[in-house]
Amino acid sequence: KSQLNGELLSRSVRYALERARARAGEWKSPMLRLAHQQFLKAAQRMNLDDNLRQRLLFPQRSQVVTLPFRRDNYGQVETVFGYRVQHVLTMGPTKGGVRYHHDVNLGEVTALAMWMTWKCALMHLPFGGAKGGVRVRPDTLSRQELQRLTRRYTSEIIEMIGPEKDIPAPDLGTNEQTMAWMMDTYSEQAGHAVPTVVTGKPVVLGGSRGRKEATGRGVVYVIEEAARQRGWRLDEKTAVVQGYGNVGSHAARYLDELGVRVVGVSDHTGGVFDSKGVDLERLDAHVAEVGTLEGYAQGDRLSNAELLELKCDVLVPAAVENQITASNAGKLQCELVAEGANGPTSTEADEILTERGITVLPDLLANAGGVTVSYFEWVQGIQNTMWTMSEVNERLRRLLQDAYRRVVAQSEELNVDLRSAALIAGVDRVARAKLMRGLYP
Ligand code: GLU
Repeated sequence: KSQLNGELLSRSVRYALERARARAGEWKSPMLRLAHQQFLKAAQRMNLDDNLRQRLLFPQRSQVVTLPFRRDNYGQVETVFGYRVQHVLTMGPTKGGVRYHHDVNLGEVTALAMWMTWKCALMHLPFGGAKGGVRVRPDTLSRQELQRLTRRYTSEIIEMIGPEKDIPAPDLGTNEQTMAWMMDTYSEQAGHAVPTVVTGKPVVLGGSRGRKEATGRGVVYVIEEAARQRGWRLDEKTAVVQGYGNVGSHAARYLDELGVRVVGVSDHTGGVFDSKGVDLERLDAHVAEVGTLEGYAQGDRLSNAELLELKCDVLVPAAVENQITASNAGKLQCELVAEGANGPTSTEADEILTERGITVLPDLLANAGGVTVSYFEWVQGIQNTMWTMSEVNERLRRLLQDAYRRVVAQSEELNVDLRSAALIAGVDRVARAKLMRGLYP
């Protein structure tokens, strides 16, 4: 027991207070700083109206909720923080994933929501950006605890979401099971099934074919376009993939299918290097059994930091943010970086890479496959129809190719790197929409 103003506090209340104090730093997130730097740089370059600059720096709506949920042991109740941020409501419903991670705070979720706005606008999807999150370590929770937490989170934000309002999806630490529980909780409140309230659902609940693989597949479609533009033959090229979750594992597989030699992969336990190419089938069998790359015997083991500096043609950071920074950007030995993750490259690193002639296919474009097939899923749900896998993939390829060409054209016209070009394309579309709608009242 300890004291506050002479009062005795139990351990759990003291924790709650400490957690609440930590909230004073809610906006202090390196990711929000990065999202702001990128946005302001683009805004400057395109001479964006000052009012719009102010308006777009922060979300239109954000909600912080506290989520009590019962642990399996002795019925103990734990309380964690949850968030849902809607950045731009101008373009249609808002759209974006929900992440379960111990670093999640308001600033980080806001940065991710901003990126969703630009990503959807760049892809010409009829959505504004949103993001959600729960500050928790999902790998320390049982399936039942995750279910209780997810249902409580959904009911706390239920007024904000809906098929015509805001449509959550999976992100880091969540998956199609999480979406099934969210859909069920929302539907129980509505009194009937509402599959279109989330995307990234299991196919049996109205999920889209190809959604699970879409982000990884999209990364590879964009790499294919960049390769075509360079006159590369992909079966002569090598790649390194950081992260072996839903994005990295699928990206590695599609690269391998195209004949690219995937010489390195990693997850949070570290990486594997094999100059002859990692045997992905064998690796997948290991991951299915163990859950991580830990203990995989084939090839050489190395750290994530070492993995990023391996010699290869294409580097795919598909793990978490802030991996390529001023301290390692000078040491990268690739020609192309394709960002599967959101925000993996710092602003300083961007400048170093540009100077070194290394092209970055930015997150807004390279990982837009996920939200694009989410859009397909939403459309199929509204129309009560079901597309085939090849219909989904062909449409995805076409939309990503179109966006790639727009980004390249914009970068040539303004003489800026691809990230600034993608951002400018996204910001410009949102700015024009806002001006057309005018200011209420
Ligand atoms: N979480 C994914 C992203 O960062 C997908 C979001 C969605 O499908 O709505 O783009």
